[in-house]
Amino acid sequence: MKRYRRIHNKWKKREVKFLSKYEINIEEGYDSFDIEEDEKYVELKKENFGIQKSLFNKKNYLYDSIIGVKFSKEELDASEYYALNNLGSPKGYPQPKVGYEKNTYRGVCDKCGVYKEQISPFRIKNEPKFGKNQVHFSLNWIFDETFIKKDFFQEVLAPLGLKSKDVLIHKTGKPSETVVQLDIPTAKSRLLLDESPYDTQKPCTVCGTKKYDQRNLDFIPPFANDFDFIICKTQESFGETETHQANRRVIISKEFCELLVNHKVIKYNTYNLTPFKS
Ligand SMILES: [Zn+2]
Repeated sequence: MKRYRRIHNKWKKREVKFLSKYEINIEEGYDSFDIEEDEKYVELKKENFGIQKSLFNKKNYLYDSIIGVKFSKEELDASEYYALNNLGSPKGYPQPKVGYEKNTYRGVCDKCGVYKEQISPFRIKNEPKFGKNQVHFSLNWIFDETFIKKDFFQEVLAPLGLKSKDVLIHKTGKPSETVVQLDIPTAKSRLLLDESPYDTQKPCTVCGTKKYDQRNLDFIPPFANDFDFIICKTQESFGETETHQANRRVIISKEFCELLVNHKVIKYNTYNLTPFKS
């Protein structure tokens, strides 16, 4: 696993000069650079990125944050499960754009956006048009559901025992003839996220739920208890405490991953899949 960071600061001339020795080219004033978290980063961090501390200079604009991770093919191969990051390109919005949340879910927190469960079908504007070879899509604002071309669902996914939910065409209220929502069951166990790199958020002041970091910051931590599944959705929600975004992560088994790759639904890479630590 390689971890990447972004360093932002209001740089002075001497710092620009200092960093250029490390082949980091930035400009004076506000600027940033990305760096792999390796020996060079550790050394630079020790040197405080060339920033000379002074009692008379209390302003510090330095901002050092993880921007993401990349996994090797070996790490992908070794994992038994994956978080599925590719739920299809977004196609339109859930309907009605104002009010879909309360119609679709039970127990939505007005502050942080976590929901307890889906109680009604998603509604979409029109019968979707699928591109050539396209079999799934997502909806804008909805980061934990995937909508599947009906033929593909029946031919490939239903035989695995997977279930679907109707999707309604908003104007008519009738089920779509071409697309269904994949019914993704909730995981039977919590993930061991506490004290992991994903544990960056404080509980919501209204509902008390703690969300976890939605970025890919590490391997996905293991489930507390083992259980059998093809695909499931985490019990935990991900997103920033102060925003309304709260989505579960979708976890798939290695076998299901292979099926999706073989059917060219997803690519076998670190953008589509985040491995568990093996
Ligand atoms: Zn809340």
